[in-house]
Amino acid sequence: MASSNFLDWLLTREPERRLRLVNAGLALIMMTLAVLVLHIWCWLGVVDGVGLWPWTIASIGGLAAMFLASRSGWTRHLADPYLAMPQLLYAIASGAVAYRIAGTGHGASLLLVALVLMFGTFGLPRRRAGWVAAYTVTVFGIAMYSGAVGQPSIFDPRAQVGYFVAFVVFVCGFVAANERIATIRRRVHIQKSALADALQRIHALATRDELTGLLNRRAMVELLEAEHQRAEEMDVPWCIAILDVDHFKRINDRFGHAAGDEALRTVSGVCAGMVRGCDSVARWGGEEFVVLLREVDAQSAQAAAEWMRATLERTPVRFDGTIVDLTVSIGVTAYIRDEDVASTLARADRALYRAKSAGRNRVHVG
Ligand code: GH3
Ligand code: MG
Ligand code: MG
Repeated sequence: MASSNFLDWLLTREPERRLRLVNAGLALIMMTLAVLVLHIWCWLGVVDGVGLWPWTIASIGGLAAMFLASRSGWTRHLADPYLAMPQLLYAIASGAVAYRIAGTGHGASLLLVALVLMFGTFGLPRRRAGWVAAYTVTVFGIAMYSGAVGQPSIFDPRAQVGYFVAFVVFVCGFVAANERIATIRRRVHIQKSALADALQRIHALATRDELTGLLNRRAMVELLEAEHQRAEEMDVPWCIAILDVDHFKRINDRFGHAAGDEALRTVSGVCAGMVRGCDSVARWGGEEFVVLLREVDAQSAQAAAEWMRATLERTPVRFDGTIVDLTVSIGVTAYIRDEDVASTLARADRALYRAKSAGRNRVHVG
């Protein structure tokens, strides 16, 4: 518990900041391990120890200072506030110095810098990875040259040439691998957004009615079930209105199927435009629509249905130069606690049937 509090304090709890600071912390830990390796070599006598302590202090101190600078927020106004690039370049330079002071064990420094490159350049843009590669080859070239000139007995000049060539080949291969990873990441990104688009389309297809753009029956059933659940838990009232176009068959027969479709679009547009933001309208099937009216009692729902009926009666459907008049009948009911959705729907349907039997173009409450 105490250690997690300490980590929260050190790395913060903001996910993005924490991720960057963890990266910087890992770089610092890796550097410390590399320093430890060199000290063990010194103890074993592989390294003569000249320059070891200044290098140790500079390497760990430099990365620690950068970690603290980004943790404290001093660097937040910079384009690279977590100092990822300075840390990378600093670690590579430190590796080159390690190469020079590591005596006969200098070859191992190349392995360590490979590790630094692997972590540090992951996901870098192509140009920047190229610059880092050129920088790496340059600083290691200098270390190899200075070794070959200054201590030829330890840094055999011919071996240094061989090392240098092999190192250049390695770094070029590394840049190519980095580019491959970047390409794959780009592709994954494109595929991910295509998948998100497809999911959105599938969702629309699964929940929307094609002709009217309203919710379809399946989506409305889900909403009714959710409302039922909410009412059971919180005791909030809600109502259903089932709306059916009167003698719709006649509209189709007289004006054609396309005119019938236009009439359905008009009805759906009027209904969707009249309900409150918290209500929902769906095409239930054919020329029937269901309206879910939230947090209202039967009386208010009846008033809303009556307003809808009267508005539709006054709204002509314009199709191909002709005007089609239509009326609707509506059955309204309020949800009764502890009943299931099917019972509420059946009661609304019976109210609709009574509205039809009583002569159509009216609202009945069940
Ligand atoms: P009532 O007043 O009793 O409701 O009579 P109605 O003619 O409206 O009812 P009925 O159920 O007999 O007819 C419904 C008609 O709706 C039959 C069907 O061809 C038509 N219909 C169903 N879906 C569509 C559609 O998407 N477009 C068109 N144009 N017509 C449809
Ligand atoms: Mg019908
Ligand atoms: Mg009808």
